[in-house]
Amino acid sequence: MMGLTHIVFSIFFYGATASIFNLPITRGILAIVAFGALVPDIDNPTSSIGMLFLPLSKWINKRYGHRTITHSLWFWLGGTCLSLAIAYPVGELTYAVAFSMGTLSHLIADGMTKTGVMLFWPNSRPVYFIPQRLTVKTNSRQELVVFIIFSFLAVSTVGIYYIGWRSVFRSAMPTFVGARNLYLEKGCREGEAYRVFVKLTYCEGFCYDLEGEIIGAGYERFYLATPRGYFEVTENRVPKVYWMKTRGPYYTKILPLRDVMNQKLQLSPFDVVLTNKVPRYIKDVDLNEILKENPGAEVKIYKYKGALK
Ligand SMILES: [Zn+2]
Repeated sequence: MMGLTHIVFSIFFYGATASIFNLPITRGILAIVAFGALVPDIDNPTSSIGMLFLPLSKWINKRYGHRTITHSLWFWLGGTCLSLAIAYPVGELTYAVAFSMGTLSHLIADGMTKTGVMLFWPNSRPVYFIPQRLTVKTNSRQELVVFIIFSFLAVSTVGIYYIGWRSVFRSAMPTFVGARNLYLEKGCREGEAYRVFVKLTYCEGFCYDLEGEIIGAGYERFYLATPRGYFEVTENRVPKVYWMKTRGPYYTKILPLRDVMNQKLQLSPFDVVLTNKVPRYIKDVDLNEILKENPGAEVKIYKYKGALK
């Protein structure tokens, strides 16, 4: 495959994995992924990376030929270990993961071409990652089609990471960011709003699964009401999100707690008291106590659409 195809495939590959495993996506990380995706072609002096390291590239090409040692599992493992050794002291292991996945994506992409990839070099048997009749010829019209398809997929997977729920993949690839954005965009406003439920793994010392409703969100965190209690959930405490669901639409109003109590509005046990501390369900708090501590506290009231004027 050509360099640009390797780049878009690596970004798709990393983007999809990051959406599933909650890895960070930043411009810097994507640059490392793309660099990792070019490195195996250092055995080809006419490739972009080969031109950059021309003497080394010529030497490897003369001694081993193209798609041999630098396209093997051993090269990938060695590169991963080396990048870990560089990234570990800096405290940025995700850089090493990004590099490793970039390189791996290169081997997979070359394994979709007619020539295949000698994953177990010096064993010269080529390995293919798709049925051989579907493999494409490098630098052909077919590769252009592959390039266009993966450009589209790369943009959408990276987008899925940020946008989360918008995509049809949202239930297939739920993430912390997706869950928080879902709440901020659909569950957090007055008027038509949704209640947002999520199941995730939460780690504080040790890890366990939590299932509950998001009842508040701030910068890089949300508040989760569960049968175990209330949790302030930040991204680094959530290694995995299993699913997120919405219920509704409801008609939502946010009113000062003082007014709600004076007007003796009918409250549901699942209406939420918003204070500067963790938001809580009405049923779990003494409203007079809250008002004493927080005269400015507000209540978010959920009613089935049409039930609240
Ligand atoms: Zn290659």
